[in-house]
Amino acid sequence: MVSRTIPVDSFDLVLFGATGDLAGRKILPSLYRRFLAGQMPEDARVIGAARSEMDDDGFRDVVRAAIEEFVAKPMQDAGTIDAFLQQCSYIPIDAKGEGGWKELKKSVRDDVVKAFYFSVAPSIFGPLAQQLRNHGIACENSRLVVEKPFGTDLETAKKLNADLAASFDETQIYRIDHFLGKETVQNLMAVRFANVLFEPLWNERYVDHVQITVAETMGVGGRGSYYDKSGAMRDMVQNHLMQLLCLTAMEPPNQFEPDRLRDEKLKVIRALDPVPLKHVVRGQYKEGEHPSYVEDAENPESLTESFIALKVGISNWRWKNTPFYLRTGKRMSRRLSEIVVQFKEAPHSIFEKDDGSTANSLTIRLQPDEGIDLSVTIKEPGPGGMRLVNVPLDMTFADALGSEGADIPDAYERLIMDVIRGNQTLFMRGDEVEAAWAWTDPIIAAWEEKGDRPLPYSQGSTGPEEAQMLMHKDGRRWQHLEG
Ligand code: NAP
Repeated sequence: MVSRTIPVDSFDLVLFGATGDLAGRKILPSLYRRFLAGQMPEDARVIGAARSEMDDDGFRDVVRAAIEEFVAKPMQDAGTIDAFLQQCSYIPIDAKGEGGWKELKKSVRDDVVKAFYFSVAPSIFGPLAQQLRNHGIACENSRLVVEKPFGTDLETAKKLNADLAASFDETQIYRIDHFLGKETVQNLMAVRFANVLFEPLWNERYVDHVQITVAETMGVGGRGSYYDKSGAMRDMVQNHLMQLLCLTAMEPPNQFEPDRLRDEKLKVIRALDPVPLKHVVRGQYKEGEHPSYVEDAENPESLTESFIALKVGISNWRWKNTPFYLRTGKRMSRRLSEIVVQFKEAPHSIFEKDDGSTANSLTIRLQPDEGIDLSVTIKEPGPGGMRLVNVPLDMTFADALGSEGADIPDAYERLIMDVIRGNQTLFMRGDEVEAAWAWTDPIIAAWEEKGDRPLPYSQGSTGPEEAQMLMHKDGRRWQHLEG
């Protein structure tokens, strides 16, 4: 199956924070890959901006180095890289200073899509937005892309929203959650809303529970002191796991249209039950092959969690009695991000007891090997009686879609192109972010008030034993990370 690449309209993308880690690892390589794929027009331009003094050639060296380090070798074509670099330029600008804005105003064109990407600390989102407005650089048709973290609680998120709203309309703001750019996440919507098979079963009557896991093998390493102010709940659950929960639980929107979809996600967040502390397990990785969490965080007294598991209820007709179990952690046994929709057992078995059948489950895998598995029970081949066996119906995209399908674009590639196309579907709206914080804040406040230390867990494990117990108490078990 050949994937189609439709070139986007011409654009000027001003990348604030162009010398930073995220720009080098994700944004610039993604732009190059879209250029290579023929999606970025030949007169589109990437204008880097940061405080560091350098000229266009100096910036092109930065971009070249990023491509050489972060783009797969077979995609590194010398001629294509040179052509891409000719579309890159640089202007030194301090968000809080006066230099550089006149040059930027002269550089950006009014007759193409103008996008401003804030790959900088959130503390300078407000000043940058204001400068763009004051200097007449942004206009009604400009787009603004902002990175996470979008606030650290409801109050800070509201302040950020207000700062941006002072200069930009909500329809111009693109809050990135790169999980939403994953091919599988969009496929979850296709599977749910383009097939009649699943939707009739997608409710508390047939779904026993849902589990969402985002596990990483890495520790907090180099960004330990930053992470220590945040923790797994703020860093992962409030945004990424919340988005996965919303897409799994939401009602079908009547159209695949940005605000219709975001309205449905918002309804899910508003229907989330408060979570009592007995349904929360927090952990910190111990010393092992690598230093412990507290060493990484350079804070021996740290109470911040590097692991969290929660049991979450949704108070609406569809999900009233179906719990959603969420867990995420660092230094886990393996790198895995997935949603498992665990269906109930068949109400009555006509086969022998212990015949080998188990309930169906649908696994939506984000990484590694993006794809979807449906486990079904069939008869084990052979003449030995009616023995049943569970087999996966594997929809790994790389296999299902042939070699073209295997070349799944990075989430950032899709999301940046969606910004240029003016499609906000896969971006979080301001009220969604605020609602997510409104649910998260009391959970954090409750454990802070209690002052409990997170439970220690071994590196390379599945987290504290108590996380297993959270499921076992309900007669359920986590899948796939174990064993
Ligand atoms: P970083 O490596 O510290 O880079 C920050 C960038 O901002 C640099 O280019 C810096 O360049 C520029 N900058 C700092 N102060 C400035 C100012 N006053 N005016 C203009 N430019 C300024 O940070 P990062 O890791 O790339 O992260 C950028 C944003 O993305 C943050 O909000 C972060 O939370 C978010 N994010 C990062 C990752 C990641 O994997 N790195 C993942 C998700 C989200 P100069 O020093 O030259 O000015």
